[in-house]
Amino acid sequence: MKPLIAGNWKMNHGPQEGKTFFEEIKEIPGKKADVVIFPPFVTIAYVKDLARERGIFLGAQNLYWRPHGAFTGEISAKMLVEARVDFVLVGHSERRNILGEDDELINLKLKTALDYGLKPILCVGENLQEREEGRAMEKIKFQLDADLSGIHPSRVIIAYEPIWAIGTGKNATPEQAEEVHAFIKQYLGEVKVLYGGSVKPGNAFSLLSQPHIDGVLVGGASLKPDSFYDIIQSGIKAFEVKDSGPLF
Ligand code: PEP
Repeated sequence: MKPLIAGNWKMNHGPQEGKTFFEEIKEIPGKKADVVIFPPFVTIAYVKDLARERGIFLGAQNLYWRPHGAFTGEISAKMLVEARVDFVLVGHSERRNILGEDDELINLKLKTALDYGLKPILCVGENLQEREEGRAMEKIKFQLDADLSGIHPSRVIIAYEPIWAIGTGKNATPEQAEEVHAFIKQYLGEVKVLYGGSVKPGNAFSLLSQPHIDGVLVGGASLKPDSFYDIIQSGIKAFEVKDSGPLF
């Protein structure tokens, strides 16, 4: 089994900085991890050859569900396919909370991504108040039900991203993350689940060592080639240990 290590650059790294990142990142040893970077739209065309040479997949941070037309500022799935991206993020908490995306729109976006052969990563997660009130699982279940309505869950990758851990430096403990991942897999069946929220070189190994964590979605620490590479290495090591089974 391989970990999936995903880097979400958010609104960082235009074409020049994006190219520099791909020129500087070291080669991924023996293709032992699947790696995908989500650059801003304008950067994609400038880095696609460099990414392919390094065996790194590209993804988009967003899409709109209509194929074309009068939707100023939006990008369609058809355009993403033409730009040769493989993955797309859907329902990131920043899009839900800052840009007002609701579950109905997220569901339409997921269906559209799948219709066009893109691999969607659906982000779900609770806020601090919901966690403190013991309602984390309830919130996640609600989002999964609404966002995946009419979609077979195995067609989508899930990213569990507790909102209180995103960009705050405060990651979920490996045990907290494991509990939610186990819940999601039990609820949905066969599905890949990534953890996201302040993943860094220092905590990646312990998170990725958990039995139900299949990979990570990394924001801030994916911007520098060295820290992102360290996280990839942690994933490879953690999965080697998991694959070799219990020592006793
Ligand atoms: C994210 O944006 O998906 C994320 C997890 O960000 P960070 O790693 O910076 O918390």
